[in-house]
Amino acid sequence: MRVTALAGGIGGARFLRGVLAALPDADVTVIGNTGDDITLHGLRICPDLDTVMYTLGGGISAERGWGREDESFVVAEELAAYGVGPAWFGLGDRDLATHLVRTEMLDAGYPLTDVVRALCDRWQPGVRLLPMTDDRVETHVVIADDDGQRAVHFQEWWLRLRAAVPAQAIVPLRAETAKPAPGVLDAIGEADVVLLPPSNPVVSIGTILAVPGIRDAVRETAAPVVGVSPIIGGAAVRGMADACLTAIGVETSAQAVGVHYGGRGRAAVPAAGEPAAAAGAAAPAGLLDGWLVDTVDAGAVVPGATVLARPLLMTDLAATVAIVRSALEIAGV
Ligand code: GDP
Ligand code: CA
Repeated sequence: MRVTALAGGIGGARFLRGVLAALPDADVTVIGNTGDDITLHGLRICPDLDTVMYTLGGGISAERGWGREDESFVVAEELAAYGVGPAWFGLGDRDLATHLVRTEMLDAGYPLTDVVRALCDRWQPGVRLLPMTDDRVETHVVIADDDGQRAVHFQEWWLRLRAAVPAQAIVPLRAETAKPAPGVLDAIGEADVVLLPPSNPVVSIGTILAVPGIRDAVRETAAPVVGVSPIIGGAAVRGMADACLTAIGVETSAQAVGVHYGGRGRAAVPAAGEPAAAAGAAAPAGLLDGWLVDTVDAGAVVPGATVLARPLLMTDLAATVAIVRSALEIAGV
């Protein structure tokens, strides 16, 4: 079975671990968010791609959920001793090697897709990890300041300001001219099932969908598309997704996020490989055939999509596998 998932960092990576455990023989492609990418000290850093790579490759810090296990921060301490920041972005010593290799390859002219493939040669994450685009797209957040408005990098808003300063806008800079990375559109079009993990709907999934062509590919794929809510009982499970949703005018609820993605409005989920038109789809409006919500959100309604309520806390691998199985159940695959 060919599974294609769009993913941000921690929530997406944990879910993907469940996908690999539930479907050990599946051919899994992950389209990763690069809107969180940032350049620090001349190094190109791709937090979400690395979180997926380290999590699935066995190198992630179990305690933090990001960065490397057995990490030290000597370089960061030395930089701080020089008064060189930013102190709010954690750069571990082991992690720095990844950024050095990536930056060197990018500077030599390799596209990010090739760089990710080279890094994954070491980590063997068990999935084909693709950046959403090889082009530079960075999420910036517009906030109020004394002189009016100011845009800061998403990481500054998220990590330094803890998303506590209201976002007036969240902008994936240069997304409109970005091209999907090689293999991205085919992975969506040729999948047997497309999954939207419980990743941040705005700054992870939303950013991926902002790359022209990707949203249409999800809308038009013959495969069933199923999303898993990152919102349970009106709150994000971890992180500040609520602040992102508020910024785009979407209520923090499982139902509102499902409605935001939108149902595809197909009468029935077609069999894998069968064109959507055969299932009676006219002009599909949204993205979802199925929307998985937590049992506390049972009763949520997303027009045009099947909603199923199941426990959605990824407390351990077994719980995550059960969530993946529920997603596949709605997909009918
Ligand atoms: P980030 O890039 O590290 O922020 O990670 P993602 O974009 O992949 O995912 C963050 C989202 O995952 C947050 O909005 C959380 O609410 C959600 N999340 C984290 N843990 C869980 C969980 O156990 N269950 C569900 N349903 N969502 C979760
Ligand atoms: Ca992220």
